[in-house]
Parts: sequence; C-alpha cells; structure tokens
Amino acid sequence: MNADAFPFIDITKAFLQKLHHESFRLREIEVEVLRLDVIHAQISGNKWFKLKYHLQRVLDSGRKGIVTFGGAYSNHLLATAAACKHAGLPCKAFVRGELSSTPSRTILDCRDLGMELVFVSREKFRNPDLLIQEYCHELTGYHIVPEGGCSVEGVNGSAEILSLINKDMFDYFICSVGTGTMMKGIVQGTGPSQITVGISSLKIADLRESKIMSFLNENSRTNFDLVVNYHFGGYGKHTRQLTEFMNAFYVGSGIPTDIIYTGKLFFGLMDLIQKDYFPRHARICVIHSGGLQGNRSLPDDTLCY
Ligand SMILES: *Cc1c(COP(=O)(O)O)cnc(C)c1O
Repeated sequence: MNADAFPFIDITKAFLQKLHHESFRLREIEVEVLRLDVIHAQISGNKWFKLKYHLQRVLDSGRKGIVTFGGAYSNHLLATAAACKHAGLPCKAFVRGELSSTPSRTILDCRDLGMELVFVSREKFRNPDLLIQEYCHELTGYHIVPEGGCSVEGVNGSAEILSLINKDMFDYFICSVGTGTMMKGIVQGTGPSQITVGISSLKIADLRESKIMSFLNENSRTNFDLVVNYHFGGYGKHTRQLTEFMNAFYVGSGIPTDIIYTGKLFFGLMDLIQKDYFPRHARICVIHSGGLQGNRSLPDDTLCY
C-alpha cells in the first residue's frame, strides 16, 4: 500500500524502548517495548493497523463511508472517528448503551470529530447483524467494520506491525488480547521458532472452548500461548493493585498504560518473568498497543499521568 495514501499517520514514529529491571538482569533476559502508542494521539497503536485496510477498501471501492460499533470508552471508536475525519470519509457508529446525560469524554471527542453516533441498548448491541438490518436505509453504501476491527483486514494489517522492527532480534512477542485480532496478525508475522504470548483482558473460563482460541487456531500455527490469569476480574474490570502497578510502572519507565489492555499486559509480563515462564537469555518484544481511553473512566486522581 502506498504510505502517502494516509499522510496523517507516521508509523516511523514508533520505536523500541529498552526496559530495565533487576528480575531481567538476574535471568539475563532482554525486554524491549515497541511503542505503537506514539504514532498518533487518537489513532493509537494497534487500532491504526486494524483499520488501514478497511480505509483502503472504502477509498478504492468509492463507498460512502464507514459504520462500526463500540462502547463509551472504546479506543476503536475514537481511532475510527479520527481516521475517517483525516481521510475525508463520513462515519457512523453504534454505541453500546443508552446515551447518558453525562457522555464520556471519548464519546464527546468522537462527536467533535464528526462521527454520527447511534446509541442502542446493550441487548440490541449484542446482535450487530440485526442492527444493520434495522438501519439499512441509512447505511446504504457504507462499509461495515466489526467491533474492535475484528476482521481479515484487521489481522492482515496487524501482521505488518512486526515489519516496523528487525524481528529476528527477538524470541518472544508479547501482546494484549481483546478480540485476538492483533495477536493473530502477530502470530502470522512471526517465524516458526518465535513465540507469541497473548495476555487476555477478558476472563476466559475454558480455554479449549473459547472462541478466541478457535479464532487463533485458524492460522494453523502453534507457536503461541494465550495466558488467561491476568484479567483482574474480567473485561473492563480493574483493581487497586492494577492501578498502583500502572503508576509505579509509569514512574519507572515513563510509559503510560491503560486499565483495560496494556496495564494488564505489563503486569502479566513482569509476573511471568518472576515466575520463570521465559527461559534464561530470552529476548522479549512487548507490543505497546496504545489506546488509553479506558483511563478516562477513572476518578481524576487515580493515575499520576
Ligand atoms: C483494542 C486494543 C487491544 C485489543 O486488540 P484485539 O485485536 O481486539 O485483541 C489491545 N490493546 C489496546 C491498547 C487496544 O486498544
């Protein structure tokens, strides 16, 4: 794809940042963070990679715009609103839950960017196909991007994340998992001797029965591991232990994380290293997937950044 097609994004801003910690030194483990969070203030991290082929399709096909789905603190909604604004495309979104009298700042930002918002009950939100059918007259000519960008386009875009770096420098890639779209792309982009470790933000009761697992298995690759014990109560849930960790981590590294995804990712990473999950001398690349919108749901004094 011609990079100039989207001049509002400069992926060369992404960089590798080395992390230092006593527990790494003891095990002679190297950890570097791929800072995708810095490529754009609103079109953050993995959301750009999951959106780019959708945008390209809309531009190539002459479709009218984009319609998508998300919650009140969705990184995906804000990224879509901003990307469409910069690309000059109209966009609409179905938002989970009725409009409250005090909408989230994320929702207000989406609206300011020109996104047309349709608030629907949680029950209706659960069935996107029915929603599209119900609103089909207003949506003719629009390209549908599934919630979270979970799609073939999203996986293929995510596979390009590793082309930003010399991936041979690493034995392990570790990333956050919501729908698993990014992780699937990362697995696709790795060589057979490299292992991708996903930290699930969602509570997954039975790994073998989980939808994410069958989604990841479609690749017919086995060089990955989905770790499910760092969900802190489930998707969107968090604890004091998590926010305290995020503050301490920010102070030590200068890296901001969020309560939904990357806070759990870095907590899991540190804990796994301390539990000797990784072999001695492992070279680990952590994908910082961006998106801090979830933190806007916290009381103002919870985080120090
Ligand atoms: C959306 C998001 C994820 C989850 O990505 P999936 O592809 O849905 O697994 C991870 N991290 C951040 C910061 C996100 O915004």
